[in-house]
Amino acid sequence: MTTVAFLGLGIMGAPMARHLVNAGFDVAGYNRTFAKTEALVQAGGQAAETVADAVRDADVVAVMVPDSPDVRQVLAGENGVFENAKPGTLIIDFSSIRPDVTRELADQARELGLRLLDAPVSGGQAGAENAALSIMVGGDADDFAAAAPVFEAVGKTIVHVGPSGAGQTVKAANQLIVAGNIQLLAEAVAFVEAYGVDTEAALKVLGGGLAGSKVLEQKGANMLGRSFTPGFRIELHHKDLGIVTSAAREAGVVVPLGAVVAQLMASAVANGDGGLDHSALLRGVLRLSGRDLEVSSGEEN
Ligand code: NAP
Repeated sequence: MTTVAFLGLGIMGAPMARHLVNAGFDVAGYNRTFAKTEALVQAGGQAAETVADAVRDADVVAVMVPDSPDVRQVLAGENGVFENAKPGTLIIDFSSIRPDVTRELADQARELGLRLLDAPVSGGQAGAENAALSIMVGGDADDFAAAAPVFEAVGKTIVHVGPSGAGQTVKAANQLIVAGNIQLLAEAVAFVEAYGVDTEAALKVLGGGLAGSKVLEQKGANMLGRSFTPGFRIELHHKDLGIVTSAAREAGVVVPLGAVVAQLMASAVANGDGGLDHSALLRGVLRLSGRDLEVSSGEEN
């Protein structure tokens, strides 16, 4: 299992593909916008001009694209992976998509003699850059075992959470928790700023107590500096909260705070912030509070 086709070299896919090269895999990268394959080539990988070229000789096909329709297109679409992969190929979908779509694609793959794992990740851009992702995997135990060397090259916490679709369900739960965390951190930042408190000192001490979190560690400084280059785009988190709220509804589970955060995320998209990092939820809090979006400390209270 040495040849990997990596499809989708975006914020997450590019560093993950590079780590696979460094781990000794033979990596052929495909990206819809071809120019983004350049970094992989410089790292020692190869650039493929089409999905077919990338996957034809691959033992493993890794996918990292935004949403359910994109994964469907790359796998089951015309000239996609299903049409071109050799029998037995192990497909690892790292994208965060709807669990029901994953299950449907896994069934289709099985009928074609292919194997599909859902393996969405958490840890953000920093986790991808540092090969420190948390990977939640759904699918057959044997396929999970076979994929271990790939997972170990890009992640640190790697857990098989159940059958096909289970990885996506856990990822949806992950996104619920992260969104709620970010929203409350944003509210706390707006609150201490309004009182003219030294915000860096505030986040430092908050980070050492029960309020401390990875979200605070990774996103606190972004909020204080109003630096919202993604990272993780709000429009992707909006997609994920759509998955959470509809899957929870189907299961008859009520997620009241999740529903509110989903609305606030939708508001961020509606206000033109979809392309910003999700730490820009702070802008929504500032808008609701009638505050200046650009000012990083307020003395008026
Ligand atoms: P991204 O930077 O936008 O990269 C997406 C990649 O997919 C790009 O290379 C894009 O190609 C390609 N793509 C988009 N639509 C496609 C299609 N229909 N067919 C083929 N390729 C297509 O996104 P990302 O941040 O890496 O996120 C990728 C996935 O990881 C998402 O499911 C996201 O929810 C998940 N995720 C992201 C993070 C994070 O912090 N960013 C963390 C955990 C999980 P072009 O270059 O041509 O646009």
